[in-house]
Parts: sequence; structure tokens; C-alpha cells
Amino acid sequence: PRSGFCKSNSVFYSKRKPTPHPPNQYLDVTTFISSKPHHGKVAFIDAATGRHVTFCELWRAVDSVATCLSDDMGIRKGHVVVILSPNSVLFPIVCFAVMSLGAVITTMNPVNTPREIAMQIADSKPVLVFTVNKLVPKLASLKLPIVLLDDTEPEITIPSEAKILTTLQEMIKRESNGRRVRDRVEQDDTATLLYSSGTTGTSKGVKSSHRNYIAMIETFAARFKTEDTFICTVPMFHIYGLGAFVMALHALGSTIVILSRFDMHVLLSSVSKYKATCLPIVPPVVVAMVNDADQIKTKYDLSSLRSILCGGAPLSKEVIEGFLRQYPTVDILQGYALTESTGTGASTNTAEESRRYGTVGILTPNSAAKIVDPVTGEALSVNRTGELWLRGPSIMKGYFSNLEATTSTLDSEGWLRTGDLCYIDEDGFLFIVDRLKELIKYKGFQVAPAELEALLLTHPEISDAAVIPFPDKEVGQYPMAYVVRKTGSDDLSETAVMCFVAKQVAPYKRIRRVAFVASIPKTPSGKILRKDLIKLATSKL
Ligand code: AMP
Repeated sequence: PRSGFCKSNSVFYSKRKPTPHPPNQYLDVTTFISSKPHHGKVAFIDAATGRHVTFCELWRAVDSVATCLSDDMGIRKGHVVVILSPNSVLFPIVCFAVMSLGAVITTMNPVNTPREIAMQIADSKPVLVFTVNKLVPKLASLKLPIVLLDDTEPEITIPSEAKILTTLQEMIKRESNGRRVRDRVEQDDTATLLYSSGTTGTSKGVKSSHRNYIAMIETFAARFKTEDTFICTVPMFHIYGLGAFVMALHALGSTIVILSRFDMHVLLSSVSKYKATCLPIVPPVVVAMVNDADQIKTKYDLSSLRSILCGGAPLSKEVIEGFLRQYPTVDILQGYALTESTGTGASTNTAEESRRYGTVGILTPNSAAKIVDPVTGEALSVNRTGELWLRGPSIMKGYFSNLEATTSTLDSEGWLRTGDLCYIDEDGFLFIVDRLKELIKYKGFQVAPAELEALLLTHPEISDAAVIPFPDKEVGQYPMAYVVRKTGSDDLSETAVMCFVAKQVAPYKRIRRVAFVASIPKTPSGKILRKDLIKLATSKL
């Protein structure tokens, strides 16, 4: 069947109208988006400076940068290029230029430590980095050629070992003669390598193809019917922010107001100033908007706002109800997605759908789901809870250079194991019940327990450790560690453990609670029994 639950193969097919997909074998995301007419409208506004970038300026800049990358720097199909930067109007220019050549963009969180950055660079083997002055010290020792995104005098001293090639502004000035040396890009070529820990282990590069993105864009274009003004404060290094700008540009040439980082005041004043209609955010921001509603409504004019998009982590029924009560003219639309499904999964598209509390919506058009019993492997029917498996045109190609993780996540028929415990009701609405996988989400950011456990084990006084998610109203979850001290290390304190980790990881990955135990509960094969530890940690709540 085209939609609904099919009993014979226990597959749920999306109830949304299918979207078309361009049949061309050779097509890249940049060509796909830039071929739409936009009549000289504004593509981006930098919220901090008010600087406007029109669609014409955007595509001209992308062309110049791509010419420079291919003709002057020798960037070819398959080369990996890093962008390490806060959100800016320049971020999409770099992404589109790199992708137009069939080269691959990999992103990083700017708050990552030099250790974390070095680990991703060792894994993804990039040939070039785009970054801002103030982040150069974090990668100077890696000896990679660097292009600076800002062309102002640096406020910091750039380390002498940094190999600075040029600035993006210089590249944008490059004349394009239209005779660029370029490889033909196929839809199945890899476009991005965003990092995600998936269902287990440490961060891995998720290979998303041009086809994956084009399919994602088509499904969202069908969802947004009018021209919108989006605020982009969600990070562009994550699929949420990256997906938001590629999708919004394509969807009827919307304008995107870009915030370099999250700041509640800047966010709300930008909504007023630019008459924004659509605001993609994560649950902690919705919670803050509900808690401070009276103050917010007197201080800011939010009358232009039509919808809030909320994704990345669960949103409780009480928060949705509170939001609808406080902001009755704004629809709150939920989305469930993964990096591995290139930002697709399920969504509520109307306020009516959002009022079915607890749901994250209906499956993305053209996609299908199975609910699989984690113990027996049996595919379950309507209203029964099991692991969600997803299939569709936006499911990743696999993990970069990691066949083992790829085969344990994607099966031979193209089903992606999401690691989320879910059910689907008789009307096709998806409900997330729990997370089977190890992943911790702090304010929507991924924290991989395996990474923190490996780090804890490098401490000379720790003999074993396990990291679990601890629930928190404000941030969603934060990492908590169970630690076994080495014999004779009875003086090792909670604070000492937290400081040891804090020095080496980005702030959102910090361990915020520690408990000492005699041993870590494990299965006979040595797997940590996380559920037992979560029960222990939360039993007193
Ligand atoms: P990421 O790859 O960082 O986007 O993380 C994907 C994971 O975030 C999913 O597998 C879920 O566990 C979680 N997630 C994303 N969106 C939602 C949502 N709306 N409700 C509950 N969990 C979500």
C-alpha cells in the first residue's frame, strides 16, 4: 500500500502525500537549490550586523569560491573539507561551494576542545579547513591548510605554525570564468560527514549523499507552503541547522536571519526586528519561553510569529500545553529526526496534529517504518512498542570508514535501526517512549557515553566507569558517571572526577554528577547494564 500499516509485512508506510524526486543521475545539492528562480530576493540576514545577502550574491559567491577551490587549490570530488565556525552568513557559502564540486563537508562544534577536534580530523582526513580567527589556535598544530572566514584583523595572535592560505573574502573576489575544472557529481556521491555516535560507541562520520539531502528538501518544501522568514539559531554544524538552511532556501526562497550563537534576548528581538514567521528551536528554549512568558510578551513584539519548530529531544505534554496557552496564535510543530536520516523521520505539520499530545508526528513522505521487538526481532503491529527502524530516500549511506558500525546499524534491505523505543498508533502517529541506545542529549547536543567512559579510564585512580543520562527539566539530560576507584584511591572525590573530565571536553559533555560504586554491573559478555544504573540513579527522584 502507499500509506498506512501493511499487515502482511508489518511495515508502516507514511500517510503523507509522496513527494517527487528528480530522476537525474548527475545532480548535486547546490545545483538543485540554485536552479530555482528567486528574483533577487534576500537569502540571508546577519542578525548582529543587519547585513543582507541576496540570492544573486549568494550564488555568485558560491561560484567564485568553488572556482578557487577547484582551479587554485586542487579540491576534487571525494576530498573532505572541514568547517569549524559559529553560524554565519558565510557558513552556507562554504558548504554550497564544497558540495558543488562533489567534495565532502564535515562540521565541528566550535566549543570542542583541541583534543576532540584532533580526533575528528584523524578520522575524517580532511585536506582543508575553513575557520574563524579565534578558533585557529585549536587546530594550528594539526598542520592543515586554513582559509579564514573573517577578514578583520585578528584580536588574538595567530600561532606561527598555522598554515593560513587566504581569506574567504579573497576567494569571493575571484573571477569565475565558467571553465572550472570539475568532476561530475552524482546524486549518490557523499555530500556531508556529520558526526554522530549512533546507537553505540563514539562519534562516527555519517555519510549523507546528495540524494539524501534532495529527498529531505523535497519533503520539507511540501510542508512549507508560503514564503517564510526563518530565524536560524540552531547550530549549522548539526543536521538541524544545516538542514534548516538548505531546506528553507529551497522552500520558495525564504529569508533566513542568522544568529551566530544562542542568546534569548537576541533571538526574541530578532523575531520583532525582522518580522520572523518561523522559529526552529530545541526543547529547553521552548521551556524558557513558557516559564518567562509574561516578561517576554511585554518586552518583545512576537506578532509576526506563526510557527515554532521543535526537534532534537522530547517535549513534554505540560510544556506544549503551557506554550499553546501562552502563545495561542503560534503553532508548535514537532519534529523527530536523526543525523543518520538526514533530518527526516516524523513531524506534526499542523497545530491540530500537535495537539495529539506526546506524538512527534507522522512519518516523513516516502518513508516507511518497522517497530521491532528488541528481544525477539519480531516486527510488531499498531500500538505495540519496540525499536523504530526507518527506511527511505534520506537514510544515510553508512558510517565513514567503519563497516562494522554500518552493518550493525543498516541492514541489507536499507532499514536503519534508530535505537529509539517507539510505537505507531492506528492513525499513523509516532510516539517516542524511551531511548534504547546509549546516547545522552544535553540541550539537544549529542554526548556519547563511550567517549566519556574511555576518558575516565585514563584517570590513574579509576579502575572502571560507566556514564548514563540523568534526567533534568531544563536541559533534558546530563551525563552522570558511576566510578570504581582503584584500590588505595579512596580519597578520589566527585569534584576531582568532574574537573578531570571538564578540562578535556566541550562544556556540554561535562559530567555533572558522580557516584562511587564497588563495581559496574555488566552482562556476561562485558556490556554495561546501563538500564540498571539509570534505575539506580533515578530511583530516589
Ligand atoms: P541527532 O542525530 O543528534 O539528531 O540525534 C537523534 C536522536 O535524538 C534520536 O534518535 C532521538 O533519540 C532524539 N530525538 C530527536 N528528535 C526527538 C524528538 N522530537 N523527541 C524525542 N527524541 C528525539
